[in-house]
Amino acid sequence: MSEWQSILKERSVATLEALAARFGSDVIDVEALRPAFESFQMRITPAALEQIKAVGDPFWTQYVPTVRELEVVDGVVDSLAEDGDSPEPNITHRYPDRALFLVSPVCASYCRFCTRRRKVGDPEKIPLNQYDSAFAYLRAHTEIRDVILSGGDPMLLSDRRLEYLFQKLREIPHIEIIRIGSRITSHLPERITPEFCEMVQRYHPVYMNTHFDHPDELTPAAVAALDRLARAGVPLGCQTVLLKGVNDDPAVMKELMHRLLKARVRPYYIYMCDPVAGGEHFRTTVEKGLEIMRALRGWTSGLAVPYFVIDAPGGGGKVPLIPNYVESMTDDEVVLRNYEGKRFVYKQPVVPVAAG
Ligand SMILES: *Cc1c(COP(=O)(O)O)cnc(C)c1O
Repeated sequence: MSEWQSILKERSVATLEALAARFGSDVIDVEALRPAFESFQMRITPAALEQIKAVGDPFWTQYVPTVRELEVVDGVVDSLAEDGDSPEPNITHRYPDRALFLVSPVCASYCRFCTRRRKVGDPEKIPLNQYDSAFAYLRAHTEIRDVILSGGDPMLLSDRRLEYLFQKLREIPHIEIIRIGSRITSHLPERITPEFCEMVQRYHPVYMNTHFDHPDELTPAAVAALDRLARAGVPLGCQTVLLKGVNDDPAVMKELMHRLLKARVRPYYIYMCDPVAGGEHFRTTVEKGLEIMRALRGWTSGLAVPYFVIDAPGGGGKVPLIPNYVESMTDDEVVLRNYEGKRFVYKQPVVPVAAG
């Protein structure tokens, strides 16, 4: 067993009893929470546990279950209707030229707001013995040029299994890029081993979209892991989820974007929290997201400004939301508001009137 595997197996907190023993059984209602565990596991790695400074802080909230998971108001189990867009087990093909390939049923730590909580943690729902039909699908669909490995967390697979996936994907000529969606640099930075960094370079271009939700998640260990990936030539992006009580604050988000850029990670998306059953207490308003975007654009480096998107319920895909900077538009002119709210008039080109 490698070091990261033993950390995961032996040093992660994976039961409510262990959590109660650590933080005190007065703050964790073990009995009340049992039903929540029927739909979702709990696991917190040492790196994620270290981020927790106090009960109820932004890190606690992300990983420690609460009885609020049992309050389902209007959340749905498969809010993005991914199962409906799944032509083969483990494949979601929604966009013209790219597909999602779920390769791991598990994560190092479980985020309580997970969109795929209906599947993640349950190996039967992301079956690893069904890669073959997925490869056959990817091979047959020559329009797919971008494959996104997801899960669960693909980085919980062994290097050997990841290399097998990379090899099989690289045998398919129309697949140009491979992407990995992973929160491992925050959860288990030890996983980014020199051996992995050596291996991945043989299958480039391999991109990684990381997941950080709060500036303090960029711990020295996480930043060092990101540095190893950057040195291995893996372009790094970040997908952040807008979460109530975690990062629903323009100052916190700006600081997060700055710390990501310092670690050579380009912010990619801020997601509106999906209305998934069990995670509804994390939701904020769309206006809050737009307020954050207005606080970024113009006020800081354009590189620090990701797209703010809603993954449209029912399978519509990601829809970008952009604050409105256009006050009016006619054939003659466009009235603009800049980031400070100042008004500017842009003249449209004078189009010659066609003779006749
Ligand atoms: C997010 C997503 C993708 C990738 O979308 P990009 O905008 O290219 O990052 C692909 N397929 C599915 C089903 C997705 O949810």
